Amino acid sequence: MKKKILDRSKSLIEFIDKSPTPFHVVKSFTEELQKAGYIELYEQDKWDLFSGGKYFVTRNESSLVAFNIGSKAPEESGFKIIGAHTDSPNLRLKPNPVYLKNGYVQLGVEVYGGALLTTWTDRDLSLAGRVILKSSLTKKASKERHSRKKYPIYQGVISRLIAFDRPLLRIPQLAIHLNRSVNEKGLVLNPQNHLPPIFALVDTKTKSKTLLIDLVAKELKCKTEDIISLEMQLYDMQKGTLAGANGEFIFASRLDNLASCHAAMTAMLESPQQDLATQVLVFYDNEEIGSDTAQGGSSPFLKDILERISTTEKKTREALMRGIARSLFISADMAHAVHPNYVEMHDGNHMPMINAGPVIKSHSGQKYATEGASSSQFEQLCKKSKVPVQKFSIRSDLRCGSTIGPITATILGIRTVDIGSPMLSMHSIREMAGSEDQENLIRVFKEFFKPG
Ligand code: ZN
Repeated sequence: MKKKILDRSKSLIEFIDKSPTPFHVVKSFTEELQKAGYIELYEQDKWDLFSGGKYFVTRNESSLVAFNIGSKAPEESGFKIIGAHTDSPNLRLKPNPVYLKNGYVQLGVEVYGGALLTTWTDRDLSLAGRVILKSSLTKKASKERHSRKKYPIYQGVISRLIAFDRPLLRIPQLAIHLNRSVNEKGLVLNPQNHLPPIFALVDTKTKSKTLLIDLVAKELKCKTEDIISLEMQLYDMQKGTLAGANGEFIFASRLDNLASCHAAMTAMLESPQQDLATQVLVFYDNEEIGSDTAQGGSSPFLKDILERISTTEKKTREALMRGIARSLFISADMAHAVHPNYVEMHDGNHMPMINAGPVIKSHSGQKYATEGASSSQFEQLCKKSKVPVQKFSIRSDLRCGSTIGPITATILGIRTVDIGSPMLSMHSIREMAGSEDQENLIRVFKEFFKPG
C-alpha cells in the first residue's frame, strides 16, 4: 500500500477514535485550527475581519465554521464551501437515566437518529459527552473565561467534555435458547424495553442510584453538587483499523460522516496559500435527526457568518447575494457502495464500488441537491486531480435518504452538489469504507481549494 494512503487512513482512524461525540469532533478540530494559526471568533462579539485572515466559529460546541478570507472580496470571487456533519446515530442517556431492576443497575436511553440497533448489542460500550458544571465567578482560570464567552447569558456555568475510554456498559443479547426464531425472524428490539444497557450489579454497600454521577464527578475531579446536567451518549470501545487482505478497507465507528469532515479539514489545512475566493468549511451537528436545531443545517449559522464576512467595511447585503451567486457548496456525506450479497438493492447502472473514487449523488425529487452544472463542476475537479468519479441514483422503487445539501441549498440559494465516499454498513456501530477513498476525496477537495 502506498505510504500516502496508509498515512491518510491512520490519520482518519486517529481522529475518529478521539472524537466519540460531536463535542469532541469540534474540540479536535479547534485544536488543529489553533495550531494552524486560525483565530477563534465568538458570535456575540464585534468582528474585525481582514483579507487573508483565517478564522473559526463554533455553535453549541457541536457545530463549526472555519474560513480563509480570499484576496478578492466575496462579491467578486464567491465562496468555496465544503459542508459535512459531526453527528452519527447512537444511543443517548435520558435526563434521569439510572434505575434498578432485578438486581441490575441500568441506564435509560433514547435512540438518536437512524441507528442500526442490533449492532449495538454485545459490544464493549463506554460513555462520552458534555457535562455542565457550576462555576465560581471569582476564579480567574483561563478555561472559565473561555467558557463565559461560550455561555454569555448563563454566566456561572462551564462545560467540560468527558469520555470514559473504558468499557462501562453492555446491551446483552438474549441467548438463542430463549429466542429460538431469532435467526429466521431477525432481532427485533423495542427501544424502551430492550436497549437500556447494564451498568452494574446492585451493591448494598455502594449507592447504586448515584453511581453514574459519582463516576462523572470522580472522572472530572469535581464535586457531585457542582454537576448541573449531563449530555452523554454511548460509544463503542473498539478502535478503528485498517482491514482486508491488502488493507483496502477501514473498519471504524462514525465513518458517516467523520470521514468527510476529516477529508475537508485536511484539504483546507494543506492548502495554506491565499485564494482569490473565500474558502469555508461548515460542519453541522444534528443531521441525523433532520437538521432542525439552532446549530443544525436548517439554522442560519452558515448564512450569518457568510453575511458577516460579506458585509465588512460597511457593505450592504447585496454583497452577500452577489457572493452566493458566484459560489459552490460541496455537500459531503457518505454514499452507498454496492453490497455483493444484496446487489438487487442498487440500480444496475449506479453501483458505486469501494476505492473507486467519490460518488456524485443525484435524485429527481431533490433529496440530493445535485444539478447539471454543480455535478459537472465536481466532475471537473475530479478530472483535474486525476481521481475517478462515480454516480449514484437510488432504485426508483426505494425511498431516497437525504443530506444537508438540499437544506443548505434552500436556505442560501447556493449552487450545490451532493457527493461522498462509498461505504458499507452505514449507520452500524461499526462501519466500513475504502482506505484509498479517503486520499481520493482529499485530493479532489485540495483541487477545489487551489488558488485561482
Ligand atoms: Zn451522513
